[in-house]
Order: sequence, then structure tokens, then C-alpha cells
Amino acid sequence: MKEEKYRVPDKGKISLKDYDPNDASLFDGNKSDGKEALLKLNKDIEFLQEKMYAEGKHRLLVILQAMDTGGKDGTIRAVFEGVNPQGVRVAAFKTPSPLELAHDYLWRVHAQAPGKGEIVIFNRSHYEDVLVVRVHNLVPEEVWSRRYRHINEFERLLVDEGTTILKFFLNVDLKEQAERFLARVEDPTKQWKFNPGDLDERERWSDYMKAYEDMLNKTSTEWAPWYVIPGNKKWYRNWLIASILRKALEDMKMEYPAPAPDMETYHKRLLEMTLSNKDK
Ligand code: ATP
Ligand code: MG
Repeated sequence: MKEEKYRVPDKGKISLKDYDPNDASLFDGNKSDGKEALLKLNKDIEFLQEKMYAEGKHRLLVILQAMDTGGKDGTIRAVFEGVNPQGVRVAAFKTPSPLELAHDYLWRVHAQAPGKGEIVIFNRSHYEDVLVVRVHNLVPEEVWSRRYRHINEFERLLVDEGTTILKFFLNVDLKEQAERFLARVEDPTKQWKFNPGDLDERERWSDYMKAYEDMLNKTSTEWAPWYVIPGNKKWYRNWLIASILRKALEDMKMEYPAPAPDMETYHKRLLEMTLSNKDK
């Protein structure tokens, strides 16, 4: 895996213009090969997640950020296909409620962080507090600009305490977004996903890209790096994220908990039970 290619360097000065949303260069094969490869990754992830849950030691936080139609929902569905819902949870962050707004912006986020043995996927996250909040001037610049520091420290805390953090920005371009909006509007089974307000957000595309770029440069850290994932080709996006996820799980070097002592005795007893059942 050469996924480092998409990793934003620590204290980087990347420019989003240098990341091609159509890129699919790490995969050797076509779309249908990519879908096939994903099935294998799904199996591996399913196995590793089970082991993680059994061991009950590590915590994994996956953060997804993207513009509307960027593919957060689709990624979750495809990458976690087949995974046992026990031990995996999605937390979606919408416009904060009055109770949430009455607290600091990390309050609701910390409450959703994964526990031991758990994988939590953030569908949007605390990064909205330096994205939509910044673009819409929901708080003054002096307030949002210091949040990068809070966020880095907050994530450091989680990592110090045993959480692995993976952050993915799904990078689609304006043209792809227009096509996906159109597909939503034309398909009665997808219309529910279309929110007219999303078009106003689209008008602010360049402001969002500036906010995303700053976010990536200021909050990609050694302990919680950002990956800029090419988002136009869904199969490639899914394959790439699943590959990075599998590697992160493998790197945890998990072990099953030690079996109960005297396993041999139980084994013998159970064999006797099944034998005596046969007689009945
Ligand atoms: P998506 O658009 O990601 O598929 P959705 O349509 O289900 O999700 P929405 O109802 O659009 O979800 O709610 C998400 C909205 O909440 C987004 O517009 C997002 O910018 C906004 N939001 C999230 N966090 C905050 C925040 N901290 N402050 C203000 N707005 C926020
Ligand atoms: Mg939306």
C-alpha cells in the first residue's frame, strides 16, 4: 500500500488543487476488479473487527468529512459491509441542538468517542466547527481560529488514551457534485436525500475549499493524520478507505483473550454431554 500518497503531512502546506478527485492510480485493475477486491477487504475487516471486539482493548475512530453528495453514507455502507453491528456504531453530527449549543463544541463529540473494543464512524464531526461555522460566520474568526489547536489537543488526548484515529476527506469536484444532485432529483427513491439548502452551500464552494484546505493543513498530525481520498470514482474511494482501515486494524496486533483455564476438562465434559445426548 502506498496510501501515504494521500496522507496530508504533519504541518503540511498542501493545496487541494494538487489532489485529483478522479485519481485511481494505486489500484491495478478496472472498476469491476476494484469491486471484487473490496469484497476480500470486507471479509478481512469483518474478521479483524470481531477480534477487536473480543479483545476489548483498542478503540477506533473513523472521521468522514465531505461536501454534500461527497459519499459519506455510501462509504459507510460499502466499507463496513458485513461487519457485525455489535461493536460498530455511526455517530452523525447535524446542526447542534440548543442543549449542545449551550456547551462547548467538543462536548457532544467527546460523548460519542469509541469505548474499548469499539469502532465509531463520525458522519461529519467536530470539523464542522471550523467548516460550516467558519463559512457562515456563525462565530467570529477569533473563536473558530483557535479551534484547530483545541482539536489537535483533543485528538491527542484520545490517542494517548488508546484510540486510533483515521480521518478521511472525500474529495469530489463541482462537476461530480452536480451530477450526483441531478441523480438524486431524478430518482424518486433518492429525492428524500435532496435538500434545497444544499444548493446554497454549493454556491459557497470556493469558501468551503479554503476552509477544508486550512483544516487539512492545521489538523493533520502525526497522531491523527488526514487522508484526502479521491472521491469521484466510488469504487476506488471504497477500496482505498477499506485498505487503509484494514491496515490500521492489522497494526493493532490484536490477540484473542486468554481462554478459560482448564479448557481440556470442559472439552471432555462437553464431549461426554454430546455423547450422552445421542443416546436419548
Ligand atoms: P449529509 O448531507 O451529510 O448526507 P444529512 O443530509 O443527513 O447528511 P443534514 O440534515 O444535511 O444531514 O445535516 C447536516 C447539516 O448539519 C450540515 O449542513 C452540516 O453542515 C450541519 N452541521 C453539522 N455540525 C454543525 C455545527 N457544529 N454547526 C452548524 N452546523 C452544523
Ligand atoms: Mg445534507
